[in-house]
Amino acid sequence: MLLDYNSMLLAVGFSAACLSMTLFGTWLTARSDRFLLTWAISVLLIVGEVFVYDAYIESPGPVLGVLTLALLLLGFSVMLGAAHQFRTGRSPLPRVVVGAGISLALALPPMALGYDGLGFMLENFLAGLLLFATAHEYWRGREEAPAPLQGVALLYSLTAASFVLCAAVLTWDGRLVLGHAPSNWAEDLSLIIVIASMTGIGGLSLALNQGRLAQHHRRNALTDPLTGLLNRRALFDLHGEAPVGAFMAVVVFDLDGFKAINDEFGHAAGDAVLKVFAEELAANLQPTDAAARLGGEEFALVLKRTLPEKVEFAAERIRASFAARRIETETRPLSCTVSAGYAFGSQDGTSFDKVLSAADKALYAAKRSGRNRVLAATLRRAS
Ligand code: GH3
Ligand code: MG
Ligand code: MG
Repeated sequence: MLLDYNSMLLAVGFSAACLSMTLFGTWLTARSDRFLLTWAISVLLIVGEVFVYDAYIESPGPVLGVLTLALLLLGFSVMLGAAHQFRTGRSPLPRVVVGAGISLALALPPMALGYDGLGFMLENFLAGLLLFATAHEYWRGREEAPAPLQGVALLYSLTAASFVLCAAVLTWDGRLVLGHAPSNWAEDLSLIIVIASMTGIGGLSLALNQGRLAQHHRRNALTDPLTGLLNRRALFDLHGEAPVGAFMAVVVFDLDGFKAINDEFGHAAGDAVLKVFAEELAANLQPTDAAARLGGEEFALVLKRTLPEKVEFAAERIRASFAARRIETETRPLSCTVSAGYAFGSQDGTSFDKVLSAADKALYAAKRSGRNRVLAATLRRAS
């Protein structure tokens, strides 16, 4: 081999230490991603194991033997916990406790009693199982980002297989007492696989985490923080470009006398009213509809594959149920009403802007004719 086993082992130790520090640093910048911390701890345990194992190769004995087994199995159990936490967002502890509890109970006693051969067989086999379980966690979560997650699952499986191979070679050899660290072709192969996988897994996982953050920011940028509805920009992203057909409608809502509510009950009460209206809007939404807060106390609803009667009915139902709501405030309950205007596209397609402004005109006609009502745009075929 180009490098001897010891040098490669130390290389694993140093690069794992760097990975652990990178994970820890990434966690510091995004503390909500708790799995990064769990993962950093698991890699740190493996770093500890590498250096203890290196010492064990120099001077084998039950104390170092037990310590190296304990660190490796605990490290892989925590890694399994981190994978579960990554996939589900739930606590890693149950997996850590069960994984470490079972594997340590099985592998440590023979090592402590001097049966180091048996100890290493069990260690390699159990490490393989823990790594397969880790691969399975990523595999189960593959829908989120198929290619990188399948890649991570594959790399964990390869590493797992290399550990099982080590166990198989030791078992084939059949010596329960070795008196030294196992040294065979499977051990060498496993170390090479560990080096390659660790680099791949580290890179892919950090990219996955970055992807999650980007998606989180994207969602934030498109969501109105007060109501949780789409914001104006998101609505235009969704519908702003394509022409609006004859069976697609835009309804614009504007709360009535909202400034007076703010003035009498305060801004917080005004916010509560906006949330209640957003609830009514969301409650009356079909899966193909989109509801957005355009700004202030103005909202829009875009309905696809619909007819004038249906739009009228939907807007009317929202208007009536909102008017019926009693909203608690610090002083007394209040109620509010809403006016709405709607417009359709045309057979040849009308720009979204035009349909929106036609709906807006209908809304202001509704305001002028006394508020708390729904009106259709007079020019149905605004082109
Ligand atoms: P009209 O019936 O004609 O629609 O009258 P209005 O009082 O509802 O309309 P106007 O445009 O005069 O007032 C809108 C008010 O909405 C003014 C503004 O301070 C308030 N507003 C805008 N955004 C928010 C918000 O996020 N929270 C609260 N509480 N108030 C807001
Ligand atoms: Mg208003
Ligand atoms: Mg307004």
